[in-house]
Amino acid sequence: MQLLDGKLTSETLKDEIAVEVQKIIANGGKKPHLAAILVGNDGASETYVNAKVKACKKVGFDSTLVRLDADVSEEELLNEVRKINEDPEIDGLIVQLPLPKHISEIKVTETIVPEKDVDGFHPVNLGRMTLNLPTFLPATPAGILELLDRYDIETSGKHCVVIGRSHIVGSPMSILMARNTKVGNCTVTLTHSRTTNLEEISRSADILIVALGKPEFVTADMVKEGAVIVDVGITRVKSDKTKSGWKLKGDVAFDEVAPKCSFITPVPGGVGPMTIASLLKNTLISAQK
Ligand code: NAP
Repeated sequence: MQLLDGKLTSETLKDEIAVEVQKIIANGGKKPHLAAILVGNDGASETYVNAKVKACKKVGFDSTLVRLDADVSEEELLNEVRKINEDPEIDGLIVQLPLPKHISEIKVTETIVPEKDVDGFHPVNLGRMTLNLPTFLPATPAGILELLDRYDIETSGKHCVVIGRSHIVGSPMSILMARNTKVGNCTVTLTHSRTTNLEEISRSADILIVALGKPEFVTADMVKEGAVIVDVGITRVKSDKTKSGWKLKGDVAFDEVAPKCSFITPVPGGVGPMTIASLLKNTLISAQK
């Protein structure tokens, strides 16, 4: 078994991005600039946004964090988005999800101009992705592709099973793994909570990508010998062994699954850091345009 080390790979990717930033500056250009909007004080969202801001600094980007109260109106949030859309200094905009219940996520996503949608969630960008046209790929699936690519994982002709069909992870992942591209060309089965025989389908996977948000859901009996396992899940669970009082768990029971597979991502240190690196890559592409 070999670890798909997202931490290490994302550092390499960030170093490459930093070199590109230096080239832009040397040619008289401005630093790429990412803006993030954070609504409310959810602990996990706060952690993710802070990690993104820190990563911007590391590669030499400018960043702007707009904090709004949890009771901000939908219109006020949309106005912030419109302001950033029109700001020529800003290359990419993300709105940290989830949003409070009174705000429509799709309305917010559709208000971000596709040219600055570095999370790749806008319907225009998702459509371009489906048609295999240049676009901003959704950051988490894009990070997974990058990881599989850098570890030379063969995908052509393989059976890829994706568990979870969310708009941000599972669905785009299934499309990307089925495209006629170097990382892709799989036969893909997309599964969800209404899937029958999930264990059997999962056992037939050469590549299993798990994104459902249920800690240690995938156990050794659901995995084929030699499979490649990508664990997207991140759930905070209480722990009396850590200083913070919680720890992160993936959707895969790592200890029992790891000995059975050829490659596996750890949690933390797998998909999470790759997501951030992909977001930076999209922002760089936007700035280079
Ligand atoms: P989500 O929107 O909650 O969707 C969960 C999906 O899992 C749904 O499609 C659901 O099916 C399916 N599901 C639920 N129970 C199931 C079951 N028993 N069997 C099969 N499928 C089941 O989740 P998400 O936003 O994609 O996030 C999934 C996990 O990934 C979470 O832990 C999240 O924190 C993590 N995540 C990590 C990153 C990263 O950078 N590492 C990024 C994003 C998300 P239905 O559609 O039928 O309800």
